[in-house]
Amino acid sequence: MIASDLETAISRLRDLVEGAQAIVPFTGAGISTECGIPDFRSPGGLWTKNQPIPFDAFMASREMRNEAWRRRFVMEESFAKARPGRGHRALASLYRAGKVPALVTQNIDNLHQDSGIPSQDVVELHGNTTYAVCLECTERYELSWVKKNFEANGHHAPDCSCGGYIKTATVSFGQAMPADAMRRAQELTKSCDLFLAVGSSLVVWPAAGFPLMAKRNGAALVIINREPTEFDEIADLVVRNDIGDALASFISH
Ligand SMILES: [Zn+2]
Repeated sequence: MIASDLETAISRLRDLVEGAQAIVPFTGAGISTECGIPDFRSPGGLWTKNQPIPFDAFMASREMRNEAWRRRFVMEESFAKARPGRGHRALASLYRAGKVPALVTQNIDNLHQDSGIPSQDVVELHGNTTYAVCLECTERYELSWVKKNFEANGHHAPDCSCGGYIKTATVSFGQAMPADAMRRAQELTKSCDLFLAVGSSLVVWPAAGFPLMAKRNGAALVIINREPTEFDEIADLVVRNDIGDALASFISH
């Protein structure tokens, strides 16, 4: 059912949350827009102006690697000042209450970790843009170090001491999905009794597979998203109100 108004949405949501033993939140860009992180895929979003750089292009050309880093540093202003929003804080509260074993996210902004959920319980399907890794030896690099070297070397991206390329820890188009994260997301989805999709259009693979997987395993399905999704018909509750408004009452201090 689609909640007719915010009050009904919150009341239905509260019943479902109270009755659940294991809630698995699955979050997308919509939960972070109130934090100032743009939704890359939305109309007018960054990706409609600047096509993303696919993984093979990044690997093939130093110019593309320089361009990828130039773009990343332009976005740093939004990422660096972003703080967890009401949705993040509500989910962190449910985690602390023992209701949420772990959370699955398509987001790369680190805001679930910033809200207090330990990183081992944030399953990132698309990686994380707040730090970088060497693609050969997996050494971790901080963005401040990459930026310092980028600027000192005439806007050339630095390489790892092993010779490998350094890239944000995100999963680019054409790059393999992280196998461990995928496996864990599936296990969580199959073992929850409430699957809470928040701020995801549930279109992009693999996101599209999870709501159905949860439903088939007997979980209740809640979809909180501004826009309709393909799975609204099978959902137990659909909330099209603002995410922060819908979740704010679950924040505990
Ligand atoms: Zn390396």
